[in-house]
Amino acid sequence: MIEYLGLFPEEIKQNMEQMGEKAFRAKQVFSWLHKGASFDEMTNLSVSLREKLKENGVDQPVSIQSVHESKLDGTKKFLFALRDGNCIEGVLMRYHYGCTLCVSTQVGCRMGCLFCASTLDGCVRNLTAAEILGQVMCANSTLPAGERVHNIVLMGSGEPFDNYDNVIRFLKLVSHPEGLNISLRHISLSTCGLIEKIRQFADENLPVTLSLSLHAPNDEIRKKIMPIAKRYSIRETIDACKYYLEKTGRRIVFEYALIDGVNADERQANELADLIRGMQCHVNLIPLNTVKERNLNGVSGKQVQAFLDTLEKRHISATRRREMGDDIEGACGQLRKKVLEEGKK
Ligand code: SAH
Repeated sequence: MIEYLGLFPEEIKQNMEQMGEKAFRAKQVFSWLHKGASFDEMTNLSVSLREKLKENGVDQPVSIQSVHESKLDGTKKFLFALRDGNCIEGVLMRYHYGCTLCVSTQVGCRMGCLFCASTLDGCVRNLTAAEILGQVMCANSTLPAGERVHNIVLMGSGEPFDNYDNVIRFLKLVSHPEGLNISLRHISLSTCGLIEKIRQFADENLPVTLSLSLHAPNDEIRKKIMPIAKRYSIRETIDACKYYLEKTGRRIVFEYALIDGVNADERQANELADLIRGMQCHVNLIPLNTVKERNLNGVSGKQVQAFLDTLEKRHISATRRREMGDDIEGACGQLRKKVLEEGKK
C-alpha cells in the first residue's frame, strides 16, 4: 500500500499518470491530504479516482487512540495508533505565541539513555515520513478553527538521526508551501548526538534548530547515563555542533536534565560553562522526570536555580524548561509504557 501522505506532489503526479489520470489531480490530492482529509472527503475528485486511490493506498496513516488533557495547563498528551497496531506518543502544548507539538520519530528507541522511558523496551521500528506528519494532522484536528500547530519539536520517542531519511522527508513535507507550510525555523530536532549525522544534517541546509542532549559536562559522567558517549567523545560532539552552527548560522540548544547526585552540583555547572564558553548556544535545564524503573531522581527547584545562577555568572545563556503536563506522564515514552503495561495486565 502506498502512503500518499508521505509523497511529494511530483511523486503523486507520477502515480496519477500510471493510473491514467490527469497530472493536475496530484496537486489536489496533495492539498487535501495535508488538510487532514481522507480519500472519501476529496469531493472534487471523481468517485472512480477515489476508489482507485483507496485500492492502492492509505490516506491518513495515524489516528488518535486517546487524549489525556492536563488539568494544570491544558497540555494534551496523545496516544496515536498506527496501522500495524503499534502506538506512539505526542504532546501538544499551548503557549501564548501558538501551539507546539512534540512528535515521535520511532516506535521506541535503541539509544539506551538510562533516564529515558522510551528506550526501556528497545526500538520496535522506524516511523515513515507519513507517520511523523500524520501526528501533526491528528493534533490539528483537535484544535478550534483558526488554530493550528505552529511549532514542532522532534523530541518524542525515538532518535531522529537513527531514522535519518524519513525525518528529512518529513521536514521537507511539513514545510512544503502547498502543504502545512510550517517554517523550518519553527522546528527543533533533538538528538543524543550521532555526529556523522549532525554533519550530514548541517549540509542539508535546512534552518532547523538543533538541540543536543548533552546531560553531562564530561565524558566520565556522560558514559554513565548515555551509551552513545562510549561511541563519541564530548569534544567530537561539540565540534560537530560547531560545524552545524557555522553552516546554518543557528545557535545550538544544549539539553541538560538535572539528575540528583549525578550531574547537578556547582562543580558540574562550572565544568559545563568551561566546555561551551564562547559558543553561540543556549542551555535548556530540565529537572529530570523521575522514571520509576530506574533509580534516578530529579532535583529541587532550589537546586535548578543554583545551577542556573552559576551558569549566568559565567555568562552562559540558560533557562529552566517549563514543565508541562506533569500530571499526564508528560515525559518521553512514559504514557506509551504505562499503556503497554496496563495492556499486559
Ligand atoms: N533521541 C532524541 C530525542 C528524544 S528525547 C534525544 O536524545 O535528544 C527528548 C529529550 O528528552 C532529550 O533531551 C532527552 O534526553 C530528554 N529526556 C528523556 N527522558 C527524560 C526524563 N526522564 N527527564 C527529562 N528529560 C528526559
